[in-house]
Amino acid sequence: MPELPEVEALAGDLSRRLAGRAVVRVDIVAFSCLKTYDPPVTALAGGMVDSVRRHGKFLDLDVSGTHLVLHLAKAGWVRWRDEVPAMPPRPSSKSTLAARVVLSPGPEGGDEAALDLTEAGTRKSLALYVVRDPAEVEGIARLGPDPLVGDFGPDTLRAILDRAGRAQIKGVLRQQSNIAGIGNAYSDEILHVARMSPFKPANSLDDEELEVLFAAIRSSLGDAVERSTGLEASKLKGEKKTNLRVHGRAGQPCPVCGDTVRSVSFADSSLEYCATCQTGGKPLADRRMSRLLK
Ligand SMILES: [Zn+2]
Repeated sequence: MPELPEVEALAGDLSRRLAGRAVVRVDIVAFSCLKTYDPPVTALAGGMVDSVRRHGKFLDLDVSGTHLVLHLAKAGWVRWRDEVPAMPPRPSSKSTLAARVVLSPGPEGGDEAALDLTEAGTRKSLALYVVRDPAEVEGIARLGPDPLVGDFGPDTLRAILDRAGRAQIKGVLRQQSNIAGIGNAYSDEILHVARMSPFKPANSLDDEELEVLFAAIRSSLGDAVERSTGLEASKLKGEKKTNLRVHGRAGQPCPVCGDTVRSVSFADSSLEYCATCQTGGKPLADRRMSRLLK
C-alpha cells in the first residue's frame, strides 16, 4: 500500500504531468470505486488541473475548484498514458482498470493523455471522491497531524501517545486519526530505527524514548520522501521495496545486527521486527498461533 512517501512523490510526479492540462472526461469503469454522486463526475470535464496535493495517504486533484480525491488503498495505483486508447474502457474481469482520467494536450500542444487508476487486488478498496472541498471526504476530515509538517514536534507526538493510553505503539502510529500517512510498512520501519518493541504501550515512553521515536519518524519518512522525489509513478513501488529494513522481510537478516527478521500477527495483518534490536532478544508471542494451538 502506498504510504506518505510514495503518495507525496506521486503528487509531485502528477503535478508536473498535469500542469496546464484540463480534464476532458473521467471514464469510470469499476463503479464501486466511486464513493460520491454530488457533484457528478461530469463536473470535472473542462476544468483545468490547478494543483495535485497529498493529505495523509489521499491524493487531491484540484480541478478548477472541484476536487477529484483518490485513496489508492491496498492495491490501487496510477499509470500514465501518453496516448489515449481509441476505445473507451469497458468493465472486464481481466482488466485492473478502475477509472481513466482523459486530459487535454499540455501547454506545449501535442496529444491528449490519460491517467489510468488501476486496482490489482480482489479486495476492491480503491476509492474515488468528487467533492467541492477535500474536507468533505470523511477520511481526510479525520486525519491527525502530518508528521513532516513543521509544527509536528515531540510535544505533538507526546500528546498523541498520552491520548492513546496503553494501546500498543505499532497500532497508534498507523492510525490515521493520530498521525496522517503512516501505514503498516513505515510503522515497522520507524520502530526498527527507534529500536522499540511494536507492543510497547504508547503512554510508557520516557523523554529520551520519545525523542528517539520522534527522530525515527522524521528520518524514516523524510529519507523515503527524498529517495522517491522526482521518480516516476512506475518506479516508486520498487524503490520502496528495495529500501525497507524489516517490513516484508521476515526470514532475512536484520541490516543492523544480522539476526533473522521475524513476523508476528497484528490486527488484520502482520508486522515484522528484529528481536535483537527491538525486544531485548525475546521473540514476541504470536497470539494467532497460540490461539490455534490451544
Ligand atoms: Zn537487528
